[in-house]
Amino acid sequence: MVTEEMIEVKDISKLYGEQRALDHVSLTVQPGEIVGLLGPNGAGKSTLMKILTCFIPPTEGEATVCGHSIFDDTLAVRRCIGYLPEHNPLYLDMYVREYLRFAAGLGGVKEVKRRVDEMVELTGLTPEADKRIGQLSKGYRQRVGLAQALIHDPQVLILDEPTTGLDPNQLEFIRSVIRNVGKDKTVLLSTHIMQEVEAMCSRAVIINEGRIVADESMTGLNAKKLTEQFHKLTLS
Ligand code: ATP
Repeated sequence: MVTEEMIEVKDISKLYGEQRALDHVSLTVQPGEIVGLLGPNGAGKSTLMKILTCFIPPTEGEATVCGHSIFDDTLAVRRCIGYLPEHNPLYLDMYVREYLRFAAGLGGVKEVKRRVDEMVELTGLTPEADKRIGQLSKGYRQRVGLAQALIHDPQVLILDEPTTGLDPNQLEFIRSVIRNVGKDKTVLLSTHIMQEVEAMCSRAVIINEGRIVADESMTGLNAKKLTEQFHKLTLS
């Protein structure tokens, strides 16, 4: 199926029991966009990302990624997505290169050694690449998570709060990697940092109580204006 949209979310709702986490959400992301997904804690950001990456199904609605349905073609969806989940689950006993080789195997990468070397270089992991993941600082673990997400050269990156808890140096480094890879990928990332959206994103989407309440180009918008808008739309 040929499609222009990299991500298309059509009228998705998600209920956890009685709790409505997403309420008729529709969203289209075009190739090359870097979209910042903002919203208060519990707004539904991670839920939307888990649905797009086929970890959980929506209660209602439909979505496609790179033209593949999240219901009918989950393998194809997963192949075209690189996903860094919120709490960056890693195998702490594995060595960095060992883990990346494992991730490359899962992603169907052909030249595994070359690709692992490239990812180690790209994410600045070289000085730590021979350690166990459990020995790494949070910043370097986050780099491993990003390398894992990129290893199969996906067209779409979905990053759930990729810079949370990082020191300013690590934060700037991760941002620069995302900005660089975002030149030829489509990126959907969630964050609570408005400066991050200003620094990286071409578009900001604000979600509140499971509904999209703003969807704006970042042209002419800065962190200050975005913060004002965020407060106006999400403080009840
Ligand atoms: P945060 O910014 O805190 O990460 P979020 O915007 O990512 O929040 P979600 O994690 O998607 O929000 O949660 C949306 C709502 O769904 C919240 O009220 C949350 O408590 C609820 N929720 C999420 N996962 C589950 C689950 N597995 N079972 C029940 N309720 C859940």
